[in-house]
Amino acid sequence: MPDSASPSPSAPVTGGCLCGSVRFRLRGPVLARRACWCRDCQFLSSGNTSINLIVATEGSEITGETDVYESDADSGNRMRRSFCTRCGTPLFSASSGRPQLMVVRAGALDDPELGRPEGFIWTGSAPSWGLIDRDLECVAGQPGAPPQPRG
Ligand SMILES: [Zn+2]
Ligand SMILES: [Zn+2]
Repeated sequence: MPDSASPSPSAPVTGGCLCGSVRFRLRGPVLARRACWCRDCQFLSSGNTSINLIVATEGSEITGETDVYESDADSGNRMRRSFCTRCGTPLFSASSGRPQLMVVRAGALDDPELGRPEGFIWTGSAPSWGLIDRDLECVAGQPGAPPQPRG
């Protein structure tokens, strides 16, 4: 699939929280970049989508103190959402069903350009005024699993 806008898959993705207490460096390739309109994400993002990068967990380095909010997803998986204990910036999410993958909240990226979404998910949960780019792939609910890391 041609995707010339993607950063090099080998380039580390770096970022951190608003107050600077938490920093991260990810080595895994970015497998998907999605804007999510699910109700949970509307809480996390002041009523908008969250922008999420799905990255292989392996090799990720995280420094600083995070706390975790756990909840049950509709899929039956346990979701763990991490945030900075000091400033509350949403940072990561992980599902018990896919421990090899982590979600990174794009607001915490050093380079916000890396967050450009490839598609929108859970558009069926968006409010009537919700902004959705219909030129991109749109899924009304939960999409399928992202492609597995290659190599
Ligand atoms: Zn912080
Ligand atoms: Zn969501």
